[in-house]
This record gives sequence, structure tokens and C-alpha cells, in this order.
Amino acid sequence: MAKRVAAKSAAQVNGQTALERACQRAAASGWPIVGRGWRVTDGALALAVPSQSEPGKRHMVVLVGAHLECDCKGYVDYALTCIHCGVVANEMAAEAQAFAARQAEARRTETAKRAASKPTPIVPTRSDADRASAPLARSNAPFSLFKAS
Ligand SMILES: [Zn+2]
Repeated sequence: MAKRVAAKSAAQVNGQTALERACQRAAASGWPIVGRGWRVTDGALALAVPSQSEPGKRHMVVLVGAHLECDCKGYVDYALTCIHCGVVANEMAAEAQAFAARQAEARRTETAKRAASKPTPIVPTRSDADRASAPLARSNAPFSLFKAS
């Protein structure tokens, strides 16, 4: 029985996995995440998504390793994923995108700060006297290409 469900979850329909389809349905539904916490038994991240079939009830979606598990009937019946997992996956993707954007902004700000705080190099001004006293101008070395005479 479990093997059949696992095979069903890996199967793709129209090139999409079951989770990708769940994410699309979740995005279309606009369902919110109404609670966040940790599962007491193992400290896994747990998120609550409202049930649509039973108003007032919430389903708990738990992040176990790298995959999501839900306590709804549809999770087992529908290829080990459901619209609640889709809601959470979409939220996690949005959070990851926002985090990446904040990181990129922080890097840009830090780079700008460093560039602003870096002292400008002192470029000595050259005068004609300096040029006349340049080492090659003063050199008597026989190998100097500039002193050929
Ligand atoms: Zn569910």
C-alpha cells in the first residue's frame, strides 16, 4: 500500500510533480498560513493552514527533513502531498526569495560602505623638477635604452 502511494507521488502529470501541482492550486486558492511553531516531539517546524472542508479546523504541515507532511486525509490519499503542503511550500519559496533579496541588498550596502570608507589613494603631483630627477634621467648605467648616446 505504501509503495503504491510513494510511486504515485513520484509520478509526473503533464511534466509536473504532485507538489508542483499542489503549489499551483495553493497559489490559486490564496489560503493563508495561520500559525507557526515547532512540533514538541522532535522540534520540527510546524505550520497551520485552515481546512476548507471543515471550517474552523486547521491542518498541521510539518517540515520533516526536506519534505512536508500534512495531517489531512488528502495527504495520504493524494500522492503524499496536498494543497496545505502547497501553501507552505509557496510561503517557504517566497521567504527564500525575500531572504536572497535582503542578502543581495545587504551585500550591495556593505560594498558601498566599504567603498565610501576606503581612503582615496594619495597621488603625488609631479613637477618638471621631479621628472628631471627621475631615476632613468639620472642614470649613467650603460644598459639604459634612454641614455643611448
Ligand atoms: Zn493537507
